[in-house]
Amino acid sequence: MQDSFKHKGLRNKLVLDLKTKGIKDDSVLEAVKSVPRHLFMDSGFLDHAYQDKAFPIASGQTISQPFTVAFQTELLNVKKDHKILEIGTGSGYQAAILCHMGAKVYTIERIKELFRKTSVFLPSINYRPKKMIYGDGYLGYSEEAPYDSIIVTAGASEIPEKLINQLKIGGRMVIPVGEEVQKMKLVIKISESDFETKIFGDFQFVPMLKNIK
Ligand code: SAH
Repeated sequence: MQDSFKHKGLRNKLVLDLKTKGIKDDSVLEAVKSVPRHLFMDSGFLDHAYQDKAFPIASGQTISQPFTVAFQTELLNVKKDHKILEIGTGSGYQAAILCHMGAKVYTIERIKELFRKTSVFLPSINYRPKKMIYGDGYLGYSEEAPYDSIIVTAGASEIPEKLINQLKIGGRMVIPVGEEVQKMKLVIKISESDFETKIFGDFQFVPMLKNIK
């Protein structure tokens, strides 16, 4: 599967769509314009790759809607060389966007099949997270903490304390919180004990899994 002019054209359209929907950060829009989302999807959905919709990937999971990816990424305020922890590797699309923006990406996936597939796939198309981890995102990845930012790409029932502890002072965590529908929350760590939380609109994610082997 190649990246063709047709695909590039469709991405340009998608970027215009995201701008109309309120995404302003040029570095985010540039990343969406560059990363070939169609390569992250199962063949049955290729025609839909550049619609602003979520689609199924393996193991009953989804590749997030482009608007959601762009919205979360914008809130992270990514700078080159930022150390970023992602919870929920899934297809690897969000991780590729962050790699494209020059971040040092650590990403955790709880489902072994997806972890295996994406760990092979991402480097094969030249996106290289610093580390892809098979594990439980609720625990974070303390070996590399603290992080400039943490992005959670599955719906959490609450803000996991272990993750907050792995943020730098001044660091940002973007996390959808709720059961059926989630509110997007941005948590900024002001000091070891002080946080500023901003709440944005409703989103729908697959749930963050607990206690699976
Ligand atoms: N960022 C992904 C979105 C995938 S959907 C992408 O761009 O495609 C959410 C992902 O979170 C799924 O792959 C799911 O298996 C994973 N997940 C769910 N609970 C998790 C947990 N506790 N720890 C790590 N990953 C988890």
